[in-house]
Amino acid sequence: MSVLRRTFLGGVVGVGVTTVLTACIPLRAEDAVIEPLPSGSLAPLPTALPGPQILPLDPTMPVFGVPSGSIYSLPTTVGNPIAWTVDDGWDADVVESYAVFARETGARLTFFICGSANGWSRSASILKPLVESGQVQIANHTHSHIRMVDASDDVIRAELMTNHDVIQNLFGVDARPYFRPPFGVYDERVARVAASVGYTVPVLWNGTLSDAGAIDPTLLVDFASRYMKPGVILLGHANHWPVATVFPQLVKILEDRNLVTVTLNDVYRA
Ligand SMILES: [Zn+2]
Repeated sequence: MSVLRRTFLGGVVGVGVTTVLTACIPLRAEDAVIEPLPSGSLAPLPTALPGPQILPLDPTMPVFGVPSGSIYSLPTTVGNPIAWTVDDGWDADVVESYAVFARETGARLTFFICGSANGWSRSASILKPLVESGQVQIANHTHSHIRMVDASDDVIRAELMTNHDVIQNLFGVDARPYFRPPFGVYDERVARVAASVGYTVPVLWNGTLSDAGAIDPTLLVDFASRYMKPGVILLGHANHWPVATVFPQLVKILEDRNLVTVTLNDVYRA
């Protein structure tokens, strides 16, 4: 991952690098130089920040039964739902950016996490309350991002259940029945073995931010514009910086199209 990130940053001129870094890396306390302000000089924060807003969940939106097999898109329904899903978590800073983004905007997201990725434990304290409220859902993407069709039955089960335990420990939830086969590759055997441990719904996608690898932020916004539409299961990744620099643009697209972010649990219930 670090190679890919260097490639991305190396391809951006100096001012771009500065923008990317300052926009996203949390300031460490030891780096901060804090000048005291005269008393009374701070205006109160507005209760609602200006700019694009995430629409709240529509309580009248229809709810469907849990699917009996794989899904690629949401049911055609009213309310303009879009399931924004976020995979992997190889970069802890990007995971944290997503977590803060969700907390600050109310965006309803489904994270398909790999427990072996280092990004999740650091942001668990931000995400856990959002998981408990139902705003954020956690689902299973295998522990170490294996190509499931190449793995034995035992390895498939172990990868899912090791990850299952990580999710349970970090977030206190049972991620079943939703899993996403890494690379979107699975077959009947994989589905059968996964179902034997309760993961009965492979979740694919019909829209993508195309950011599994590093991608130019402008291109990422172009993909968002192409695929952020009603009924879409949108694939994103918490792996590289660009997405964390364009959240306002992505929210603007959602707002302009009256799209309502939903988790899988918002749409499907037992
Ligand atoms: Zn993945």
